[in-house]
Amino acid sequence: MTAAWDLIGNPSSVHAEGRQARRLVEDARSSIARAVGASPANVVFTSGGTEANALALSPGAGRGSGFAMQRLVVSAIEHASVMSGGRFTRDAISAAAVDPSGLINLEGLRGMLAVGPTPLVSLMLANNETGAVQPVVEVAAMVHAAGGLLHVDAVQAFGKMPMDITRLGADLVTLSAHKIGGPKGVGAVVLADPLSAREPLWYGGGQEKGRRAGTENVVGIAGFGAAAAAAMRDLEPDAKRLRGLKDRLETGLRESPGMVIVADRVARLPNTTLFLVPGLKAETAVIAFDLEGIAVSSGSACSSGKVQSSHVLEAMGFGGALAQGAVRLSLGWSTTDADIERCLEAWRKLRVSLLRG
Ligand code: PLP
Repeated sequence: MTAAWDLIGNPSSVHAEGRQARRLVEDARSSIARAVGASPANVVFTSGGTEANALALSPGAGRGSGFAMQRLVVSAIEHASVMSGGRFTRDAISAAAVDPSGLINLEGLRGMLAVGPTPLVSLMLANNETGAVQPVVEVAAMVHAAGGLLHVDAVQAFGKMPMDITRLGADLVTLSAHKIGGPKGVGAVVLADPLSAREPLWYGGGQEKGRRAGTENVVGIAGFGAAAAAAMRDLEPDAKRLRGLKDRLETGLRESPGMVIVADRVARLPNTTLFLVPGLKAETAVIAFDLEGIAVSSGSACSSGKVQSSHVLEAMGFGGALAQGAVRLSLGWSTTDADIERCLEAWRKLRVSLLRG
């Protein structure tokens, strides 16, 4: 990124300065492609996961010309940028149910695929609230047998578990840099080999092979490439270490009466713990943890000052007050044993007052 800051060239320019910038962009493209087993030609840089999802979810995604997807099926636990359906009209979008375990209900999806026109299906690789790893390989087989295409939002899973676009069976994959320690505001759509995403979101210069017009964010892209390379290099030891820390954290949390660790019956990312305790108010807990120097998230989304319960927890069957008390703890490369102990100590201290209040 520092090298990119110093470059004045535009990657579309043919002079030497332009070619230097182009080299940084193409090195990053190769790094992202390597990380997901794709061809660099199939990586389209965007301004992040949200734009990548908007670009991917298009009726124009298809193999060959003249093909159009007439409907979109999303799982009920997708990120808002997928739930909103990209460029599909409202009536062309339907949501597939998830089980209380946190995984998509495969029989329900099978039923949805059996009726109606060929769909584009969108299923995340791992959920951003619970960390639950979805059965993408099975879903890809079902979707392809029905003649459809599969988009996988891998924003949360990328860099935390091995990922190969061909082995997953995904046709389009969304990535975002900031979830792997890269800069905010840069992401990518990665396409499977024979797939063409024919409808750009907007028109302009021919950047990104006409799939995403506009001068590339060279600094951000360079950072994304570097972060992907670092994440891939340390993926296995990091995942093992984080899993150990998470297990310790959850063992400590389970000492509290009424503690529910969400989606703990299924495979989850090594760094994500979402917990619920009857009587707990997530917003109060977030502030109390913050005062102890510990950054946690609530499982509920806050918009215009109004706290809404999480659609993910609702889809899993956690209703009302319980869903409003979800606290998410995310571990990262810098988290240590001492941090886990400090977090558990803070929880033991806060628990009594939080539950009383
Ligand atoms: N998809 C998932 C699963 C996410 O968790 C997020 C961000 O939190 C996004 C998409 C959006 O990515 P970005 O913030 O890069 O727009």
